[in-house]
Amino acid sequence: MPGAKTHMIIAALLCAGLYLVGLPVTEPKQILITVFIIIIYSQIPDMDHQSSKITRFITAAGIITALYYLYKGDTFTVWVLLLPLAIIWGLRFLKLIKHRGLFHHAIVQGILAFPVYYLLGLTPFVYATTAAISHVAADHIQTTMKKKKDKKKNGKGKF
Ligand SMILES: [Zn+2]
Repeated sequence: MPGAKTHMIIAALLCAGLYLVGLPVTEPKQILITVFIIIIYSQIPDMDHQSSKITRFITAAGIITALYYLYKGDTFTVWVLLLPLAIIWGLRFLKLIKHRGLFHHAIVQGILAFPVYYLLGLTPFVYATTAAISHVAADHIQTTMKKKKDKKKNGKGKF
């Protein structure tokens, strides 16, 4: 499978394209947050991997952010942050998540990026979704190419 760095680079290139086409991020703070989101979301689909660091990172970040909103008295946002995490950990615990299954579907990326939309708005959401879908697409292309190679090796696909 393409490594974490490869996924980051592909996502960064695609998002740079989006930026050039005219999805503007102007303030330095916004740019910093967006870059961070692109890096994180280029790894998000691999949360379905049992040994992935991204799940632990997202969990820690989610809990810290939730505590901040709890302190502010915004319980609804706490739910928006903690409910998806609870579902993910539940599914992992029950071993219902398999690698490159549900979490590697393009539509699911939109759902996983919902907290970004809720907290930061549409533009960061589009960048997050683009980064995550680029991951799924890269995995898919790589798998397809590998299958073709294996077929050739096994002598199948010959007339
Ligand atoms: Zn993957």
